[in-house]
Amino acid sequence: MLNELKPISVGDITISPDKNFYIAGPCAIESEEQANEIADNVIPAGADAFRGGVFKPRTNINSFQGLREGGLPTLFNVGRRHGVPIVTEVMREEQVEVIRKASRGHPFIYQVGERNAQNFDLLRKVGETGYPVILKRGKGNTVSEIIKAAEYITTGGSPAIISERGIVTFSSAAGVGKHTLDILSVAYFQEAGFLVILDPSHAAKERRFVWRLGLAGIAAGANGLLTEVGIIDENGVCHAQCDAGHAMSFQDFKTMIQVGKSFEQIMRANLLLKQNVDINSMLKVNV
Ligand code: PEP
Ligand code: MN
Repeated sequence: MLNELKPISVGDITISPDKNFYIAGPCAIESEEQANEIADNVIPAGADAFRGGVFKPRTNINSFQGLREGGLPTLFNVGRRHGVPIVTEVMREEQVEVIRKASRGHPFIYQVGERNAQNFDLLRKVGETGYPVILKRGKGNTVSEIIKAAEYITTGGSPAIISERGIVTFSSAAGVGKHTLDILSVAYFQEAGFLVILDPSHAAKERRFVWRLGLAGIAAGANGLLTEVGIIDENGVCHAQCDAGHAMSFQDFKTMIQVGKSFEQIMRANLLLKQNVDINSMLKVNV
């Protein structure tokens, strides 16, 4: 028995199975100039929401840890200026309220990162807010562990969206990509009743690979993408303090979204997102 995918509201916007939802922005907010330049490019290119981390979980304690609370006004000002919802990561329970207050009523989505995917107290806490939550799959979590973790959020009343962002496999060990994107998990999460926003960035490791995973995700029926985009200089280098290697250029993001929207049309025209797909009719459709 398949569960129905229910639309989720973020302010006036609806994330629904009928139209993909694209989220883009830097890994971390670093300055007002950086946030504005990226927003000025990704929103006209098709981003429905702007993302940026201020509370950053970093593997290395010496890496930039984010602007923390002080970065929230910049982040929400970008959302207000462009009239788009914000997506930002919450790492600890006490930050749930800090983020809500800083939003001053502007619509936003909490992101729970892969490292906190089974932090059940945090999941309960965001689950009680009523705000939508994007739950990233931990790189070592099974599909069923993440479905159960998402239920901690929905049990409290908040809507949950699952984000597949790659898991550790033998390929990671061989240095082929950072993580292996588990494409079929999109279908499993949806069949369990969760909309899926796929993150091609953290799996790709290198910017030149991101579009491949993004388009593969859309072709697999994901309900949207969460993509990191950065400012790339004339030598092709991104100087971001966080995840610079996989930050997509503005132009590549725009192209990925344009092509992605036509992939979406194919999927919908052929009802591929329903069961019993008729491949023959799919092949006859002109987009
Ligand atoms: C991020 O979105 O910047 C991030 C840290 O992602 P993940 O939790 O999937 O590693
Ligand atoms: Mn990142």
